[in-house]
Amino acid sequence: MAIFARLNRPRGTHNRLDRGAPVGRFEPMPIDPTEPYDEGNIFARILRGEIPCKKVYEDDHALAFHDINPLSPTHVLVIPKGAYVSWDDFSERGTNEEIAGFVRAVGKVARECGLVADGYRLLANVGLDSGQEVPHLHVHIFGGRPLGPMLAG
Ligand code: 5GP
Repeated sequence: MAIFARLNRPRGTHNRLDRGAPVGRFEPMPIDPTEPYDEGNIFARILRGEIPCKKVYEDDHALAFHDINPLSPTHVLVIPKGAYVSWDDFSERGTNEEIAGFVRAVGKVARECGLVADGYRLLANVGLDSGQEVPHLHVHIFGGRPLGPMLAG
């Protein structure tokens, strides 16, 4: 029988929830999108240039780069330049200019990756049930092969 752990941590320390991870086994834990923005998250560090990425596109509102663990021939992440935890946070607090700029950037990246003719999929995980792992809003762009059913299982 699995033993389940719950981390006892101060609010806002690492933006992650532990809901039933077996003790002694590392599994990525979904973040809590209601926590404050964590300036130390991996995409914040990529934005600050502290960690390298394979950049695809950049403008005033967005940065796009290849996912480190691609799930399709093209798997690009597009992130806003502002400090937003999730789509929920961005849609509530983002300015109209930031939101328009970001949405246009996602479309432009997909076009520039040559994905429009054959099609592509956008995905933005938000919080626990989605499995969001990085607490900075990101839209996944998947393409380059037929992508199968919309949801697994
Ligand atoms: P999520 O599950 O939060 O929607 O997706 C997070 C994504 O970020 C995953 O697909 C994961 O492979 C990707 N990722 C995590 N760390 C890094 C990193 O340091 N660099 C890049 N390029 N992608 C990362």
